[in-house]
Amino acid sequence: MAFDYDLFVIGGGSGGVRAARIAASEGGAKVALAEEYRMGGTCVIRGCVPKKLMVYASEYPGLIEDARAYGWKVEAGAFNWGHFRVQLEAELNRLEAAYRGGLTGAGVEIFDQRATVADPHTVELADGRRFTAKHILIATGGRPFMPDVPGAELAVTSNEMFRLDMLPKRALVVGGGFIASEFACILNGLGVDVCQYYRGAQILRGFDDEARGHVATAMQAAGVTIHCGTDVLRMEKTHTGIRVVATDGTEREFDLVLYATGRKPNTAGLGLEPLGVELGRNGEVKVDEWSQTAVPSIYAVGDVTDRINLTPVAIREGHAFADTVFGGKPRKADHELVASAVFTQPELGTVGLSEEAAREQEPVEVYVASFRPMQTLFAGRQDRVMMKLVVSQSSRKVLGCHIVGPGAGEMIQLAAVAVKMGATKEDFDRTVAVHPTMAEELVTMRNPVRRG
Ligand code: NDP
Repeated sequence: MAFDYDLFVIGGGSGGVRAARIAASEGGAKVALAEEYRMGGTCVIRGCVPKKLMVYASEYPGLIEDARAYGWKVEAGAFNWGHFRVQLEAELNRLEAAYRGGLTGAGVEIFDQRATVADPHTVELADGRRFTAKHILIATGGRPFMPDVPGAELAVTSNEMFRLDMLPKRALVVGGGFIASEFACILNGLGVDVCQYYRGAQILRGFDDEARGHVATAMQAAGVTIHCGTDVLRMEKTHTGIRVVATDGTEREFDLVLYATGRKPNTAGLGLEPLGVELGRNGEVKVDEWSQTAVPSIYAVGDVTDRINLTPVAIREGHAFADTVFGGKPRKADHELVASAVFTQPELGTVGLSEEAAREQEPVEVYVASFRPMQTLFAGRQDRVMMKLVVSQSSRKVLGCHIVGPGAGEMIQLAAVAVKMGATKEDFDRTVAVHPTMAEELVTMRNPVRRG
């Protein structure tokens, strides 16, 4: 049977774009891609990229204060949100065009509309057109999840954060994960009075306990008011803002409430289940290690599969799929030892197991260095950096590396190479320090602080 396309990709985010481009350019496939919103997906349009630019924007007041301590006569002045938004939009347009150009340059045909799956080999566009394809790739990502709280319509999600008309004076951030903690720091840095409500005992659940404690302490010292064990009961509009009634019995008023309470895979209405594609409890597409669903012609990559919801992982999954199905190079995406960074202030970079998870597995030695880095110490700041290695007692391998401090995201990328290669504590030790840096502490920690 002749198909219209070899591959039809639904979703123009990190995973879908990579798969489409590689299948077309290296696999020689005839490829189409449908995207209902903007090319680039969550990461480029309303996630990692604009978020990181906001992190940069929010760091300047601190840098200017430090510059004064170093002898510069400078004043911070006021932050112009309108100016930043225009610059941000221009940058996102540039990136969107680059993604589009990369696809069309590879010969991929783009449809700027929603697509659903009609049968295992047929895609239907919102305008009613139908196309057949030998393979269909679902790469529709995820969307913010908002719990059913009275007054939920008064709150915004991360989707709206990059397009606010103006910055609020008082903001509440609900949630304790990546997105909540990052936005709490961004808003705080931009001069907003920020409260963060988290239902659990400590923010950033799942990360190393000591590292998350360090981040939370530093965030509070920087001005974010974190209320753990606290959730929203209801929200009401007042003529001066949004009144939030919380589980701790308090009533506070804010100008903006941001809900960052997780994300859900975008599978609703795609037409997958009637075809036999299995969905999980969260709505995620169930796939095997080749990213193939229960329907052999349908694959899925990225956040829609709810495996590790990070852009570089989606890219690897999309690339592995294209290599396997179109490139004659069968390979699976590797989900082991994926490093990540939370762009809080201070940043948290992590790879491998937390101390708690490692202890469950085997006896460990824990090495920790906590110190005031010279750059901010000189400026009179109390900021502390933390570096931590969790080491297997039997194999001596570094099972986990956790860094909290400026540039932790950059540092963990390099530490991750060593950890991925199976480096032992002794491999770290015989690596000569680069001085004076913060990262040198990673190779100069002599005695474990804990064993067991
Ligand atoms: P997370 O899963 O990281 O965090 C969700 C938070 O919301 C948790 O603190 C959770 O609490 C809380 N929560 C969940 N449901 C409710 C509820 N009904 N009421 C109150 N609180 C609730 O999700 P995010 O939205 O922060 O981020 C989604 C994913 O995006 C991340 O997991 C990550 O993979 C990715 N991401 C990565 C970034 C990076 O690499 N820097 C940046 C941003 C996002 P509890 O802990 O109790 O479950």
